[in-house]
Amino acid sequence: MAKIYYDADADLGILQGKTIAVMGWGSQGHAQSQNLKESGLDVIVGLRKDSSRWKEAEAAGLKVATVAEAAEKADIIQILLPDEFQSKVYNQEIKPFVKAGKVLVFSHGFNIHFGQIVPPKDVDVIMVAPKSPGHLVRRTYTEGAGVPGLIAVHQDATGNAKQIGLAYAKGIGCTRAGVLDTTFKEETETDLFGEQVVLCGGVTELVRAGFDTLVEAGYQPESAYFECLHELKLIVDLMYEGGISWMRYSISDTAQYGDMMIGRRIITEETRKEMKKVLTEIQDGTFANRWLLENQINRPVFNATARRDEEHQIEKVGEELRGMMKWLKKRK
Ligand code: NDP
Ligand code: MG
Ligand code: MG
Repeated sequence: MAKIYYDADADLGILQGKTIAVMGWGSQGHAQSQNLKESGLDVIVGLRKDSSRWKEAEAAGLKVATVAEAAEKADIIQILLPDEFQSKVYNQEIKPFVKAGKVLVFSHGFNIHFGQIVPPKDVDVIMVAPKSPGHLVRRTYTEGAGVPGLIAVHQDATGNAKQIGLAYAKGIGCTRAGVLDTTFKEETETDLFGEQVVLCGGVTELVRAGFDTLVEAGYQPESAYFECLHELKLIVDLMYEGGISWMRYSISDTAQYGDMMIGRRIITEETRKEMKKVLTEIQDGTFANRWLLENQINRPVFNATARRDEEHQIEKVGEELRGMMKWLKKRK
C-alpha cells in the first residue's frame, strides 16, 4: 500500500520563522502563496519587474519582490514558473542565492528529473505537487478542504527535507486530503503520461472524434456537442465521487450495456500498444527533448496546432451554447 500523509503527520512549526519565496503568480503561484500566508507562514512572491500580476499579488496582501530579491531573502524557494522557462530563470536569477541549508521546492519534477536544473549538493530539493489545477488548490483551501498532493525528496541535505515538505503540503491544504509519497521520477513520468494519454490528449481527441462522427452523419452540431462534450462532466463527476461502478450504477442499464460492449472497440489493443509507446518516449526523454527544442525555436508546431484546434467547429458551437448557460462564466 502506498504511504499517504495527513494533517497529523505534518507540523507547520518547522516552517515558523522561515521565509518562503513563491516564484510566479500564475495558476499554482497565486493559490499556493495565499494558502501558505493564511496558514500563518511568511511568504514573499517573486515576479519579474514588469509583471502585470505584481499589483494583483500585492492587492491580495502579499509581499512582492523580483525573483532574485525573493530568492536572496528566502530560506525556502518554491519555483512555480512554467516548466519550460524554469531552468533559464533558475540559472540567471535564483542560482546565486541557493546557499547551503536552503530548500528548493517544485510542484512538478520535469526540470530536476530531466537534468535541466542541477542544484548544489548542500540544499534540500523536494517536490510538493498538488494534483489539481491551481484555482481549485485555492478554492478548496478557502472552503476548509484541500486537494490531494504528492511529496518527494530528491536531496536531503538538512536531514529535514521530508518534514519540511510535509509542512509545506499542510500549509497549502494538501494534507487535509492526503499526500502520497512518491519520487521525482514517478511523478514526472506519470504526470506526463496522464495528461497526454488520458486527461488531456486522450479526452480531447475522443470528444472531437465523437462530435465529428455525428456531425458528418448529418446530426445537428448542437446535439453532438451536448452528447460528446457537455455530458462528459456529468459522467466524470460520478466517477470522481464513486469510481466507475458508481457511475455505472447511476446511468441506465442500456447505457451500461453499451459502455461494457463498445468501450473495448474504441480503446483497442492497438490503442493500448500506442500508450506503451508514448510511455517509453516519456521515460527515455524523447518527449522532453522535443518539448524543450520546440520552445527554443518559439513553438512553431505548438502555435500552429493550437490555432487549428481553436478553429474546430466544436469550439464555435460550444461558445454559443455555453452563452445560454447563465451560470457559466465566459472563458476565452
Ligand atoms: P503559470 O504558467 O500559470 O505561471 C505563470 C507565472 O510565471 C506568472 O506569474 C508569470 O509571470 C511567471 N513567469 C513566466 N515566465 C517567467 C519568467 N521568464 N520570469 C519570471 N516569471 C515568469 O504556471 P503554472 O502555475 O501552470 O505552473 C507552475 C508549476 O506548477 C509548473 O511546474 C507546473 O508543472 C506545476 N503544476 C501546475 C499545475 C496547474 O494547475 N497549472 C498543476 C500541478 C503542477 P508574468 O506575470 O510576468 O507573466
Ligand atoms: Mg502536468
Ligand atoms: Mg445519453
